[in-house]
Order: sequence, then structure tokens, then C-alpha cells
Amino acid sequence: MATIIDGKAFSANLRAEIARKVAILKQNHSVTPGLAVVLVGEDPASQVYVRSKGKQTVEAGMNSYEHKLDVGTSQADLLALIDQLNNDPDVHGILVQLPLPKHIDEESVINSISVDKDVDGFHLSNVGRLSIGAEGIVPCTPLGSIMMLKDHLGDLSGKRAIVVGRSNIVGKPMAALLLAESCTVTIAHSRTQDLPSECRRADIVVAAVGRPEMVKGDWIKPGATVIDVGINRVEKEDGSTKLVGDVEFESAEKVAGAITPVPGGVGPMTIACLLHNTLQQACRLNGIDVPE
Ligand code: NDP
Repeated sequence: MATIIDGKAFSANLRAEIARKVAILKQNHSVTPGLAVVLVGEDPASQVYVRSKGKQTVEAGMNSYEHKLDVGTSQADLLALIDQLNNDPDVHGILVQLPLPKHIDEESVINSISVDKDVDGFHLSNVGRLSIGAEGIVPCTPLGSIMMLKDHLGDLSGKRAIVVGRSNIVGKPMAALLLAESCTVTIAHSRTQDLPSECRRADIVVAAVGRPEMVKGDWIKPGATVIDVGINRVEKEDGSTKLVGDVEFESAEKVAGAITPVPGGVGPMTIACLLHNTLQQACRLNGIDVPE
């Protein structure tokens, strides 16, 4: 049976470590990191995320600024708010909750956030830095995934890794991070032929597909490490719902060496990494080294 990689415990430790560093920053430099979260509309899942981000930001000792805008807000008004936040010295990180309503162009909004206040790692400049292996802000979900992999496996150098999914927010940055750790990386997607065979060759499988339990146990090489990024809500036989990943946990845990559960794996790491990125930006903007 696979070792369960406990993202809940890992993220709690990471958040405690961030809170300790924030306390040093406040005491020694009178700087309190501030994270502004902008939510447009009333998407229920987004509201849950934003609430939980705000709560954990405050628990880490940082300032949380929430901006809730009406679903009909114009792109010009949203850009004006971002401009105001870009110029606010108390704000070190700006996150615009996605998805945005259809009438707003996501790319223009993301790239209007100052690169110095980008905490999602979606700004083109940070995307470029990651692709050339330079230091920058790394997207939260892949960052949390690579942290768990390194914690569990140590040196990743030379390992065969497959990332299933090539989105800009998960698949591609995840592949770049694995490459930076000197893995031999395969990126699979909807046009990949014989995906099970591709997966079976991998020492590390990262599933970021958005298809409930698609990756089966017999796709996994015995002893491989499996990171399940997927979060899918599915209906149970009794009509209630539950969350499942992109990996069929029950069959995969019998074969894998280690696996992240859903929920309680990658999910909790994402917000912890958002706080990590906010701390980085607060230090950078103030010309301070991140406290040890
Ligand atoms: P996207 O829908 O943007 O991308 C999905 C990717 O999966 C695409 O590249 C697509 O390929 C590929 N894909 C779809 N079907 C197949 C298939 N049958 N075989 C192989 N590849 C396939 O999703 P995201 O990257 O945004 O999210 C992926 C999952 O991760 C979702 O479940 C999401 O909920 C979850 N997630 C979890 C987060 C967390 O905090 N834990 C954060 C973000 C996402 P193609 O490009 O060819 O279409």
C-alpha cells in the first residue's frame, strides 16, 4: 500500500513557518505583508476560495483586503481598481479570482497586475522567468506539488516524470518545475496516444486533467509517486456529492509508492503557497531578504 502524502499536515507546517517569518518582518522591519483578493460576481466555489484565502492570510499575520465587485462590473472599472492596488504601498500581492465573467478579458486583467505584486505567477514576465529557469513567482498549485515531491523523494534528478494536462496554470508550469529539478519530463494531453503506456514508464505521475478518476491503478508503475491535482465533484449513488481526484485512488494506492489524496493533498498546499508568494513579494518590494 502506498504512503499517503498528507497535504493538510504539510501545508499547516508551511503556514506556521510563514507566520513565523511574517512576525520577524513586522518586528524587525515594521512591514506587514498585505494580500488583496478581487472577486467579480458570485460564483459559489470562488466565494468559498476567497473566504478561505482571507482567513488563512489573517492567520499568517498578514493583512487581507477583499474587493467584491458586482458581476456586471466593466473591464475598465476592474482595471481601475487594479491600478489603484498596484499603487497602494500596503498591498504586496494582488489576486484576481478566476474565472472572470465572459465580458472581461482575463489576459488583459492578469497582465495589468504589476509584476512585483503578481502572487499567482500568471504574469507573462513570471511565466518567462520560469521557462528560462530564472528566479520569479511560481504558480501556487505546481509550487505546492513540487514542494511535496521534493519533501517525499529528495533529489528528483534523473527521474522520469509525466504531467497529464498542459494548462497554463497547472500542467505547463508543473512540467517546467520538474525539468528544473532535472527530471526527464513528458507532457501528455487530450491528443496523447496510448496514455496508459506513457504513464507506466514514469517514476512520478502528476495528474491535472479535470476528469474524475481517469488515471487507473494499472497505469501506474509499481512504486511510483502520484500527485493528484484534480478536484472533481461527483454524485454518489445516494444523490449526495463527494470530491474525487483525476486518479482512481482505490486502485492506484495499491500500486504506487506514495500518493496524494483528494481532498487533503494538493488542495491545501495551494493557499499555503499563495501566502508564501505574498511574503516573497512583500520582502522584494521592501528590499528585504526573506527571514530565515
Ligand atoms: P484545464 O481544463 O485547463 O486543462 C486540462 C488538461 O487536461 C488539458 O491540457 C487537456 O488537454 C487535458 N486533458 C483533458 N482530457 C484529457 C484526456 N482524456 N487525456 C489526456 N489529457 C486530457 O484544467 P486545469 O489544468 O485548470 O485543472 C486540472 C485539474 O486540476 C482540475 O480538476 C482542476 O479542478 C484541478 N485544479 C486543482 C487546483 C488545486 O488547488 N488543487 C488548482 C487548479 C486546478 P488539451 O490541452 O489537449 O485539451
